Amino acid sequence: DRCFKIVLCGDSGVGKSSFLERFCQNTFNEKTQVTIEIGFQMKSLVIDSTVISLQIWDTAGQERFRSLPHSYFRKADGVVLLYDITCEKSFQSVTSWLVNIQEVDIDQSAVIILIGNKEDLATTQRVISTECGKRLAEDCGAFFIETSAKTGHNIFETFDYMARTLQTR
Ligand code: GDP
Ligand code: MG
Repeated sequence: DRCFKIVLCGDSGVGKSSFLERFCQNTFNEKTQVTIEIGFQMKSLVIDSTVISLQIWDTAGQERFRSLPHSYFRKADGVVLLYDITCEKSFQSVTSWLVNIQEVDIDQSAVIILIGNKEDLATTQRVISTECGKRLAEDCGAFFIETSAKTGHNIFETFDYMARTLQTR
């Protein structure tokens, strides 16, 4: 069995905790989750008959102050960086998050996935086009996908991609 450390990041309110809840418990809450302390959840996937365990870390609101401890990112195998497709500011923050990640000298081989979350609101409230997201991801060598923690759209696919990429790395 192999175990990998995955860290979630992105501005407050983009849906990190909801994203993790959808993946681990397959539930969704309309209310913002108050995460009290930094912690992780474990989830296993079977990829080509190999069990891959993912230790997925969520922030505890420090993202508001850009004060995540360096230990949060240390030895991370994968980074899932989220923005909200209905929130311009969260998209602009992606670049600062990437700079942040480089500063804490994350492993150069770490797999980075850029997520445009809240895809269920695309028809009514979208402000960031899919093309913009794709372009930014290409610029920073990240994989790109749009998800919805609310409907579950592409949530499993995100972690499946992550696990497969890490396994064959
Ligand atoms: P975090 O601060 O990044 O952990 O964000 P939360 O998971 O607490 O979510 C913030 C708010 O956005 C909550 O009200 C969630 O219910 C809502 N939310 C999260 N993901 C989605 C989504 O995919 N679609 C919609 N419509 N709302 C979402
Ligand atoms: Mg949260």
